Amino acid sequence: MIIRSRKLVTLEDDKTLLIDNAQVEIDDEGRIVGIGKISNIRYDKRFTILIPQFANCHVHVLDLELRRCFKTMYIDDVVGAPYGIKYLYIRKVDERRLLRSIEYALDVAYRSGTGEMWIVLEMGLHTIDLLSRVMERFPITVKPFLEPSKFHIGYWENYDEDIVNEVRMIVERGFNVELISPLNYNVDELKHIEKIVHERGLEIMTHVSETLDVYEEDDLDLALNVLKADVLVHCTHVRDLSKLENKIIVVTPRSNLALVGKCNVEIFNNVQNVRVGTDNVGLNDPDMWCEVRTLLRLGVDVNHICRSVFINVGCGDFARFQIACYHITYEKDSNFLRRLLWRGRTLGRIDGSRIMMFY
Ligand SMILES: [Zn+2]
Repeated sequence: MIIRSRKLVTLEDDKTLLIDNAQVEIDDEGRIVGIGKISNIRYDKRFTILIPQFANCHVHVLDLELRRCFKTMYIDDVVGAPYGIKYLYIRKVDERRLLRSIEYALDVAYRSGTGEMWIVLEMGLHTIDLLSRVMERFPITVKPFLEPSKFHIGYWENYDEDIVNEVRMIVERGFNVELISPLNYNVDELKHIEKIVHERGLEIMTHVSETLDVYEEDDLDLALNVLKADVLVHCTHVRDLSKLENKIIVVTPRSNLALVGKCNVEIFNNVQNVRVGTDNVGLNDPDMWCEVRTLLRLGVDVNHICRSVFINVGCGDFARFQIACYHITYEKDSNFLRRLLWRGRTLGRIDGSRIMMFY
């Protein structure tokens, strides 16, 4: 099948490319096998635009039923470990309700054009099987980060062998690890966790400096120098952004605005590898179009937005084809992209790595 598109938006080496009059060839299994340009302009659909699918790089999928709490309570009372209501809820609730929450999250994500999700699972070893039961029904690449079920109130508490053993079990099953905050773990535990996870070639994600009080307790220093986390989420209050340079930083714009009243958009100008997530499903639907529009409203450069929200696996497919395309340098291109991001919506998908949409 050939789809002709008036415009095609893609990424190459982190640069947003806009291709006019693109032609996309799709094989019998629905995969993109070729991209080219067409000279005679006749479209299958008027105003078709093809863009890559979104990557949602930080989603908590278990807390849909806590919507009222997210709207009315202070952040630490809802999501703070170990006594936030989210943790009590996930321990006590019937697993059918957790399953429904996961299904809802995947369904909304799928319908709004997300192709990859980095999912955080609280009580990881207990909840991973729930995720596995539903995720196969959705053609989304899921990268799970499992959170250990035990925390300390503070890093000064005694070393707990159980925590490290739980992390060991998580990585033995091949999963990445997420810690709610390095401040909830003893320094020796953090050192061991770092070693165990990285020895296996897996990744560590942690929340950093979301609120001012944890920033002042220097959670960033622990995350960078002791835990050596690969993915830092939020960084709302981090001022010296040069410290974040070599890390993957995930910003969750709507959640940051709702829970702490600000989003650190300077990160987009200063850090190379910024990704975007929707955070808790009880707070926000995992619809990346909403994050895109929030970032536009906050004045983030449209090219930076594209670089941060689109999936970047498989961009090589596009790069393989020597097609006439150009980097977005002209004002008119940026304006086109801005209008697209404001008004776009997902109407269909081509395969596991691209979406098709109409403008
Ligand atoms: Zn989070």
